Amino acid sequence: MSKPYTGGCACGAIRYEISAEPIAMNDCQCRDCQSTSGTGHGSYLTFPSREAVKLEGEARHWDMVGDSGNVKTRGFCPACGSPVYLTFSAMPDLFTIHAASLDDPGRYEPQMVTYAVRGHAWDRLDPAVPKFERMPPMQGVANAPASGDPGEGRHAGAPARGPAGCRMVGPHLQ
Ligand SMILES: [Zn+2]
Ligand SMILES: [Zn+2]
Repeated sequence: MSKPYTGGCACGAIRYEISAEPIAMNDCQCRDCQSTSGTGHGSYLTFPSREAVKLEGEARHWDMVGDSGNVKTRGFCPACGSPVYLTFSAMPDLFTIHAASLDDPGRYEPQMVTYAVRGHAWDRLDPAVPKFERMPPMQGVANAPASGDPGEGRHAGAPARGPAGCRMVGPHLQ
């Protein structure tokens, strides 16, 4: 494994150290990510296990409900307001950080763009990075939720994507 991923908020009140490799790195252009980033997309690294995460400082938490009814919890610094991390009630092991909160943001290498359907013409991203209208099918991802979870009605508006159905990975369980 490479050295831990370290970072935190702009003022330093919140710090993290993650001794794991990310299972996903994505830019997300959904409206939630636009609103909370203040620009056209959010950029995220998602780690497979909370046990690999050391957190210092007290983030404030804000729960928001995606279109699916799944709860996303956004952790941000109450002093400087920086968004730092995200967690998901339907996938409690996952821990997602904002790429620019890293001490070395150059370690972020986006693998995909999610919710490109919501993207704006002025928010141009690398055309070499694959885009998904919403989320990609979840396949071969560790710690996927067991079948039956997190309930029906999820992604009701999204087209079926084969046998993987609605199993999605990443920060945006819309
Ligand atoms: Zn701060
Ligand atoms: Zn998003």
